Amino acid sequence: MSRYPARDSEWPASLNIDTLIKNGWKPSPFRQFVIKLHSRCDLACRYCYVYTMADGRWRSRPRVMSRETVDHVTDRIAEHVASHGLTAVDIVLHGGEPLLAGGELIQYVVGRIRAALGTAVRSHFAVQTNGLRLDRDFLRLFDALDVEVSVSVDGDRTAHDRNRRRPGGRGSHADVVRGVRLLSREPYRRLFGGLLCTVDLRNPPERTYEALLEFDPPVIDFLLPHGNWSAPPPRRDADSAETPYADWLIAIFDRWSEGLGHRTRIRLFEEILRTLVDGRSRVEGLGTGAVGFVVVETDGAIEQSDMLASAYEGAAATGLCVARDPFDSALLTPGIAARQIGVDALSPTCRSCDLRDQCGGGLYPHRYRAGEGFANPSVYCPDLYRLISHVRARLVTHLTSSGEPA
Ligand code: SF4
Repeated sequence: MSRYPARDSEWPASLNIDTLIKNGWKPSPFRQFVIKLHSRCDLACRYCYVYTMADGRWRSRPRVMSRETVDHVTDRIAEHVASHGLTAVDIVLHGGEPLLAGGELIQYVVGRIRAALGTAVRSHFAVQTNGLRLDRDFLRLFDALDVEVSVSVDGDRTAHDRNRRRPGGRGSHADVVRGVRLLSREPYRRLFGGLLCTVDLRNPPERTYEALLEFDPPVIDFLLPHGNWSAPPPRRDADSAETPYADWLIAIFDRWSEGLGHRTRIRLFEEILRTLVDGRSRVEGLGTGAVGFVVVETDGAIEQSDMLASAYEGAAATGLCVARDPFDSALLTPGIAARQIGVDALSPTCRSCDLRDQCGGGLYPHRYRAGEGFANPSVYCPDLYRLISHVRARLVTHLTSSGEPA
């Protein structure tokens, strides 16, 4: 298991757990468990944060989670559910590429966890795949097991194959499209969770949006490529006030907001609207609510979000393992606490920002600066400010029918 301790110097003084508890803080239980069934991938995407950024620990992990580790994960989830009186949990089968783990292991994991939780706890299972191996056999299995399926697609062939390539450099679009088409039609349509699209500024936003809509997905998640102040994302000059990512997303937001009745939801825009209306977001990276998910790696290591792999080696580590430690122990680590204490974990700049409660400082890994840690605004700060301001202005215009949009 992982033995990388979190670097104390990376956490602000406000994250002293003893002090937090003395002051009345209580962690929120985990409600989502991300299980890494396979640690490798059959694609070599150019922006992948797991295999191409700072954290190389994937090389030393088992390729596939063993049944013994699955049993430990199951026991820990059941223990956590019982001790916190939870009535519903989300289980995300993840990787690497989870379909590489094979149908038998997937069936074993879902069966074990469902049996352990019993009928009194609603367990929602989802798998996040690159779609390359998504065929009728897997879809029949997911149908039988009632597992929702989400697929990563970056747009049309040119957009998708720009980054989502096989190790030899060949694009993956044609094979992924075959799988998504099967998923989007009967009898498997009910399993379709949505599409995940990583933004590449070289891809025209309107064309990308249209290409994704051709699959008629229930939801699209637009994701920003990972980076931080010390390793900025593509064309996100850390010192520039330009907003290329906001401009890209606004082009899609304007199209989307003109046809709100369309059956495809865009989670990012919906959640910004939600934070503007009631201050709450259901996704990490917007708002200041407590983050409630935890990751288990193939070796049983209990980790924070693997997006932290973009910061430094071991940034996601807690030093805990399902064979030995309850998930409650992870709730008391600085990295998890930082994502549960809301405004108190933000940088002074974010705390005094007028969009603090909507933006929440952006995704945690995007705040990192080598030598300083995470108490910074997001490296996407100008983009986040511009995008949220635009959505807010549109909302005001829509509600008052007065004035021009921003
Ligand atoms: S817009 Fe910038 S300063 Fe404001 S909360 Fe977001 S990251 Fe912080």
